Amino acid sequence: MKKKELVLAKRIHIKGLVQGVGFRPFIYRLANEHNLTGWVENRNDGVIILVEGEAEQISNFIDNIRPKSPPASNIQHIQVSDEEANGFSDFVIVKSENKSEQITDVSPDIAVCDDCLNDYKTQAHRIDYPFINCTNCGPRFSIIKDLPYDREKTTMEPFVMCDTCREEYENVLDRRFHAQPVACATCGPQYELVIENERFKDFDHIIDKVTELIKEGQIVAIKGIGGFQLACDAQNEEAVNLLRQRKFREGKPFAVMFADINAVKEFTVMYSAEKEALESWRRPIVIMRQKKKLAAAVSNGFHTIGAMLPYMPFHHLLFEKLNLPALVMTSGNISDEPIVIDNNVAEEMLSQIADAVLIYNREIYNRTDDSVAMVVNDKERIIRRSRGYSPEPVNLDLDVDGIVAAGAELVNCFCIGKGNQAILSQHIGDLKNLETLEFYEESYHRFVKLFRVKPEIFAHDLHPDYLSTRFAKDMRLKLVGVQHHHAHVASCMAEHNLDEKVIGVSLDGTGYGTDGHIWGSEIFICDLAGYERFNHFEYVPLPGGDRVTKEPWRTGLSYLYMVYGAELWNLDLPFVKNLDKAKCDYILEAIDKKINSPQSCSAGRLFDAVAAIMNICTITQFHAEAPMRLEDLASGTVEAAYPFEFGESISFQPTIRDIVQDMQDGVSTTEISARFHNTVMNAIFAVVSLARTQRDISKVALTGGTFQNRYLLSRLEKLLESVGFEVYTQNRIPANDGGIALGQLAIAAKLRSLGKPYQKS
Ligand code: ZN
Ligand code: ZN
Ligand code: FE
Repeated sequence: MKKKELVLAKRIHIKGLVQGVGFRPFIYRLANEHNLTGWVENRNDGVIILVEGEAEQISNFIDNIRPKSPPASNIQHIQVSDEEANGFSDFVIVKSENKSEQITDVSPDIAVCDDCLNDYKTQAHRIDYPFINCTNCGPRFSIIKDLPYDREKTTMEPFVMCDTCREEYENVLDRRFHAQPVACATCGPQYELVIENERFKDFDHIIDKVTELIKEGQIVAIKGIGGFQLACDAQNEEAVNLLRQRKFREGKPFAVMFADINAVKEFTVMYSAEKEALESWRRPIVIMRQKKKLAAAVSNGFHTIGAMLPYMPFHHLLFEKLNLPALVMTSGNISDEPIVIDNNVAEEMLSQIADAVLIYNREIYNRTDDSVAMVVNDKERIIRRSRGYSPEPVNLDLDVDGIVAAGAELVNCFCIGKGNQAILSQHIGDLKNLETLEFYEESYHRFVKLFRVKPEIFAHDLHPDYLSTRFAKDMRLKLVGVQHHHAHVASCMAEHNLDEKVIGVSLDGTGYGTDGHIWGSEIFICDLAGYERFNHFEYVPLPGGDRVTKEPWRTGLSYLYMVYGAELWNLDLPFVKNLDKAKCDYILEAIDKKINSPQSCSAGRLFDAVAAIMNICTITQFHAEAPMRLEDLASGTVEAAYPFEFGESISFQPTIRDIVQDMQDGVSTTEISARFHNTVMNAIFAVVSLARTQRDISKVALTGGTFQNRYLLSRLEKLLESVGFEVYTQNRIPANDGGIALGQLAIAAKLRSLGKPYQKS
């Protein structure tokens, strides 16, 4: 066939998250809209398109790829090159070939889409079918065992498609074209409800029964996308209290799943960025201000609610029947263990908490907790990164190939490097728990295999006793030890692709310092290759060592002792009056003799001390409770602050004096808390301003777990920006220890590229 002069051909290579998200059918439709011929093909390293047609049509086609791409896709890179025209007669999707060890991104799990919610009301083979999905929605990471992403390599493998599903799967114009988890009532996974020794398989009966149990105030364990959850009526005080008792915890607020966005609006103060986060296909839990009360035991004294919207078809079907606005939906686990994913374990363990256990017969391969986010200054900030986010990579300008990073210990995620992508694991948890450590080790090996990484360098925290550090050392690779707070700053820098000198502000609960003390309020002048410690909070002894995290009264006592000495006993404070003097004298002696009283400059401990002195929280029931309760009190309308001093370090001794005075004068805790927060903000502002003047650096990175404090982050970010700082904060990666591994990875990569050792001072 003689080629027309006008016909051009282009080859287009698209990288990013373009598989398992309906990308090829989208390209097929778009090519047809523009009267183009050619083909599209999935490769390990992305999607290749060849198009032929008129120049203008081709250019319009390319321009439309990004703006019209499927919602869950994420294009990182489009590369276009010229080709010889071949005279193709139509546009086709060609069978996948895997020619490279390079791989494309693995999609996170995607909440059920509106089209599917419509289909289960209209499609004969899927009426009320609770595992409905399509190329735009459904499970992904949680079911994937290997790449490329094909059904045989997922936990959908045992389910043989029926003829109807196969037709849809093979029809390029169908929304289920190559949707790997495609299923219907005939061929797909099924639920089973277990109540004591009875088992129910009929779905209509199951949904009626679950509805009935919840309405009666009972607790049901429900298998979700990435693990089991425990559900009960969020307005039923007795049910929620029962759940707390049976879970042996837990002062920690429970997450709540609302029936729909109107229900969220009824119970919370909702800003548009929060609505957007709630309704996104990632469906995180969003921490929001409470407006109308649910059962008091849900929030346990906090003025916030962790809200989320339904994300599985089952959730929607359940709310249709329930006619309730909200369910408590908390992780199905025992104390610090990872959430349960196995049916047998659920029946055995969760039946001790729940009155009924709802399982289904598709395996969860990769465990993912619900993710948690907050919105501060109109930006979403992830706090726990798991379902819907993991394993989306961070694309860096650095070569991180073959570098892996162990992360921290308490809120662990690890990270692996592939090419220039940093792939952070899902939230793993506290490694001191044996089951969690096993989850960590298993997930590490799975990531290395799934993403075809050949580890050469293992970056880890300097803390020799972190179980993640020990794991890294056992792997017998080249090691790079990274200071904890430098890793926090580097994580923030990596998220924003910063590779230069910045002022790094890293505030958190604890981290290994290189001077033999516990750090946690670091203001660094640093880049990825090293840091200089510019300033930090004043050191204070922590009597009892690790016990202070569960007993903030110890740190409160230590601060009062530092400020007042033995005079502290004359203070007219409820906190002091409640102290056991004999026991405290013993503790003060230990401080004097430096027995089991490590020095710390931790910001978290300062918040602990103030919460204790104010008598808000002297003993904690969960991690970071004292700072959280203190923040919860702070009112946004207060502008006043307390004095502080700074020189060699930042001293809050004058602050403590004034807080004590305010307490004695009967100033409200709301006012005192806000003034205290404003003081910490002013102190950071003063030091950062000095650093700018002395070093001529105006980029500031704010990170560390303390920046989960919305009041502090919101005000400090605005203040710094108002005087011309370029402020970088963590949005897509947690500011807490869950983000540490990314920083460790970036630092190790930078050192490798420079061929230099680590610089710390
Ligand atoms: Zn769908
Ligand atoms: Zn089917
Ligand atoms: Fe930390």
